[in-house]
Amino acid sequence: MKNSKKEIARKRMEILFNNALLNARNNPELAQKQALLIKGISMKFKIAIPPEIRSSFCKKCKKFIVPNISSRVRLGQGNSKSISITCSFCNHVYRKIIKN
Ligand SMILES: [Zn+2]
Repeated sequence: MKNSKKEIARKRMEILFNNALLNARNNPELAQKQALLIKGISMKFKIAIPPEIRSSFCKKCKKFIVPNISSRVRLGQGNSKSISITCSFCNHVYRKIIKN
């Protein structure tokens, strides 16, 4: 079973991510630490961070940001199916396309 270690690592990333989401409001420092652990696992096991987790990191300051807690989310203007996310750590704004 060559992939089992990577499987476990991926599961650990998901667990850490869920914990970080839960802690983001009441214990943001812990959430940041857990986010760092996710990156550590990704590097150690050479596996990519799943897209749904990666999109929770600010593109600029690389901090873990949670919608409505550490970032502001706004719907895009017009009929474009995008949202803009503002990081509350560095105020960087980036867009995310929403797929149906
Ligand atoms: Zn940022």
